[in-house]
Amino acid sequence: MYDVVVIGAGFTGVAAAALLSEKHNTLVIEKDSFIGGRAATRTPGEWEWADVDNYHVDFGHHVFPPDNYIEFVIRKTNADRYVDIKLVKRPLFYRFGKFHTPPIGIIEQLRAYPFIPLKSKLKINKFLGYVKKVPFDEVMQKWAYKPLRALYDYFDFDEYGRELFTDGFAAGYQTITDVERNSAGDFILCMKAYLKGIKKYKTPLFAAEGGIGKIAEAFVRVTEEKGGKVLLRKTVKEIVVQNGEAKGVVLDNGDTFDAKNILFTAPAYFLLNLMPENEMPTEFKGKLEKAKEEATTLFLIMGGATRPLLDKPVGTWILIPKTEVKRVDSYYLVYEVDRELKQAPEGRYYVSFAAMPSKDDLKDKNNLIERMIEDMSPIFPNFNFDKDFEWRSSCYFPIVDGLGRTIEWYHERRLGPETPIKNLYIAGDSAQELSSGVDGCVSSAIFAVEKIIATKLLDLSQFYKV
Ligand SMILES: Cc1cc2nc3c(=O)[nH]c(=O)nc-3n(C[C@H](O)[C@H](O)[C@H](O)COP(=O)(O)OP(=O)(O)OC[C@H]3O[C@@H](n4cnc5c(N)ncnc54)[C@H](O)[C@@H]3O)c2cc1C
Repeated sequence: MYDVVVIGAGFTGVAAAALLSEKHNTLVIEKDSFIGGRAATRTPGEWEWADVDNYHVDFGHHVFPPDNYIEFVIRKTNADRYVDIKLVKRPLFYRFGKFHTPPIGIIEQLRAYPFIPLKSKLKINKFLGYVKKVPFDEVMQKWAYKPLRALYDYFDFDEYGRELFTDGFAAGYQTITDVERNSAGDFILCMKAYLKGIKKYKTPLFAAEGGIGKIAEAFVRVTEEKGGKVLLRKTVKEIVVQNGEAKGVVLDNGDTFDAKNILFTAPAYFLLNLMPENEMPTEFKGKLEKAKEEATTLFLIMGGATRPLLDKPVGTWILIPKTEVKRVDSYYLVYEVDRELKQAPEGRYYVSFAAMPSKDDLKDKNNLIERMIEDMSPIFPNFNFDKDFEWRSSCYFPIVDGLGRTIEWYHERRLGPETPIKNLYIAGDSAQELSSGVDGCVSSAIFAVEKIIATKLLDLSQFYKV
């Protein structure tokens, strides 16, 4: 009998296991042969993108905020013994033919983004002052369930301010760019994380040497060190539920494991196929079905290049707003992985171009790629998309951030960590989380662990003090 069986060894599962295994007998079950799920790092050959084995690339592209949830778990579990965290340069924002760096000090702030009128910069400054000071509880009460537009209106942002935040900052968080539907509170918390990073490290981004998957692997080492177990290549076929209480899991090979608690960390709606119909409460089932409809997507062109995107290596994210894009109705997120992360061989660069295309765009992938390249070519005039890649691939990633982070699906309105089934918990990017991407996953892992062990690990009011 395990104290906790964790289903899934993605970031959520392994972060939860690293925390749980401190005092609880924990088993992680993963269907794939590798750790890290959607944020694993493997070779292009292993991902089946290209016949190449000397790059180590993330599924998609990954950077995330420092001094936030991931860093909290890394420090708390001492996982930093097993992974080299590297700061990534501040991201760039492309506008009117130039690449702009987000400012740090007040002088830089006045000089930054020369296309933004001074009056608007003062409003942006006022907003950032508010973000710094506003207590966590006020964010949740006042803004969590209001749209981004209400926040922009409140601070009287003009079109430049709106664009800078929506496509320049929020786009970095990928699924909070719909000003009418996404949560203003979510955005404030992301900006708080951004400011915390700037304050502590002078950059809002960090990554791991060798790829993000190294962090997940470090969490597994910590888990195993404390006696926890991780089983790979084992699929959970059923969660055993009796009289409204989760009792254990059955694997596809027939093995069963009894557990006092079960933590499900794959996208929540996968549960629809894992529980006996008669044990699934109707309202819960409805919510899972709705969650499935809200899943979001991202399309990436990625590859190994023989030269950097610009004259000098960029080594960070570049956010390109919709106004600079003609052929696809999306912002672009371009990433040239810093060579210091050692993900590409000597003299080579791993680069990716991401867009959020419509369903129609995806009907003709080659045409979409052509249009993306047409959009990117004038921005990176010296980069030749035909000649400068030694390998190139593209991928449609079906679930970027579990569910759209709309007001209807924000925080407490999301699924988890508790479920109507006793002792069954849900975490991950389709469950209750703060922050986004892998950092958001880790936040939800913390919230779930807190419920399972009935102990608070984080005081959010303190945590969000900038
Ligand atoms: C293209 C792309 C770009 C992204 N960019 C960023 C970024 O820059 N920054 C960022 O922070 N985030 C980014 N994300 C989001 C981030 O990758 C995800 O939010 C995160 O990896 C999800 O982790 P998870 O553990 O919740 O889920 P998953 O990684 O999906 O883990 C769930 C695990 O459960 C396993 N599983 C499922 N069903 C079963 C079963 N029945 N039995 C056993 N195991 C099972 C799966 O194999 C999987 O390993 C990106 C995502 C994509 C796709």
